[in-house]
Amino acid sequence: EGSVHSLDSNEHVKAVEADGEQQPYSSRHAPKEPSTSHPPRDAEHGRRHARRSEAEDQVPMLAKQPLHSLSLADLVKHGRPPLSAEALLSSARFTLSLLPIRLAHRIQALRNLPYIVVSNKNISKIYNNYQHSLSTLLPWQGRTISNLEDEIRFTEVLAELVQTHTDTIPILARGFLECRKYISATEVTRFLDEHLRARIGTRLVAEQHIALHFSSQPHFDPGASPTPCPEHPSYIGVIDTALRPASVVDSCGGFVADICELNYGVRPEWVIDGEADTTFAFVPMHLEYIVTELLKNAFRATVENHMNREPIVITIAAEPPDMRPHASHIGLSLPTETRGAFGGDAIAPLDDNAPGVTIRIRDRGGGISPEVLPHIWGYSFTTFSEADEVLGGDDALSVISNASNGNSSIAGLGYGLPLSRAYAEYFGGGIGVQSLHGWGTDVYLKLKGVGKIE
Ligand code: ADP
Ligand code: MG
Repeated sequence: EGSVHSLDSNEHVKAVEADGEQQPYSSRHAPKEPSTSHPPRDAEHGRRHARRSEAEDQVPMLAKQPLHSLSLADLVKHGRPPLSAEALLSSARFTLSLLPIRLAHRIQALRNLPYIVVSNKNISKIYNNYQHSLSTLLPWQGRTISNLEDEIRFTEVLAELVQTHTDTIPILARGFLECRKYISATEVTRFLDEHLRARIGTRLVAEQHIALHFSSQPHFDPGASPTPCPEHPSYIGVIDTALRPASVVDSCGGFVADICELNYGVRPEWVIDGEADTTFAFVPMHLEYIVTELLKNAFRATVENHMNREPIVITIAAEPPDMRPHASHIGLSLPTETRGAFGGDAIAPLDDNAPGVTIRIRDRGGGISPEVLPHIWGYSFTTFSEADEVLGGDDALSVISNASNGNSSIAGLGYGLPLSRAYAEYFGGGIGVQSLHGWGTDVYLKLKGVGKIE
């Protein structure tokens, strides 16, 4: 019997229900400065504090504004070569027009969590990170980024923002685990699904501008310096217009095999077949995240299945633009409830006929038992127990602290599948899992290319 760190339990009573009503989380009760990351320092602290309060006051107003629904065309239009200084400035202004509203929506959603949850030190750290990031952007509002000096300083603010939110996932995971008595699994899933999907978009917007900024740097000529930059001719910002999935599989496979070797002393093998040379336009960071998570699952199952250690087979199928079967043709079970609710935040492909790719990851790791199968998409559900390797300790918490320290575990957070699905769905793709219990698992990752960029 695996240890199940599921939040799934009906006996958990919402703490707020006892009081009869759920107070919206008011800024008056906002947790104060983040504990460690920003040590208070005299005048600087005072200024920051003043900015923070200002940011808090603006949240309700900003959160009332609708989220601008992004299109990929928006993201790439500033980056089409040649990237002129004006295009870079307009990308900066566009980015600034989106981010404060996006952050305010997240802050508002955090405030709407039960008070006892948002008071948890991990959740409140995330709350403070958002509040801090908003406060760094507000001074830019109401003025125009009109020269390259401004643009450089604004890009520094973006870089700090991306950095501040890097560790969100293990911190939120720990926070919600600690709060599992006070909030139901359904509420956690609803919150995380929305929060983590929105986070994907926010990071993408910020990272796109940062990447455009740097691609214009090496020989920046305000007239017309060509971008994409010479080292990565196929890139426009963070989008690779000629991404080769087989290369991503091989590099992520190497990384996951290293983790396996470290944890189990075994290095599973994999082979790639199908149309290994196919390329499409996609965000490499996203594909790397998804493939790493899916390979971790396949490798772990393979290693734990002592009967059979056949190589994992990754089949890559290019999809001709004129034959785009709906996801259901390959048996993907896409949850309509999440797709509908966050559709407004997902980025529309540039071109509905953009070529896509389907990647099937087939392992002979024994499959998923019928009792486990209904839970695999829940945040925080895992059958991983470190007890086999490390005696004692709280499995989930030790996995989380590994993750926060930048170490990689093979499994244990239980976020791999749901978050991979969120990434896949962001550009209109999906993930389907087919298990043949006792034998193995097939995972279908279907991705729509982001469309023609030239
Ligand atoms: P984690 O890997 O941290 O446990 P995931 O969301 O990646 O979280 O997976 C959830 C659960 O789904 C796993 O704990 C495992 O029980 C099951 N699972 C996922 N992929 C496979 C697979 N290829 N073979 C067997 N079980 C799997
Ligand atoms: Mg996993």
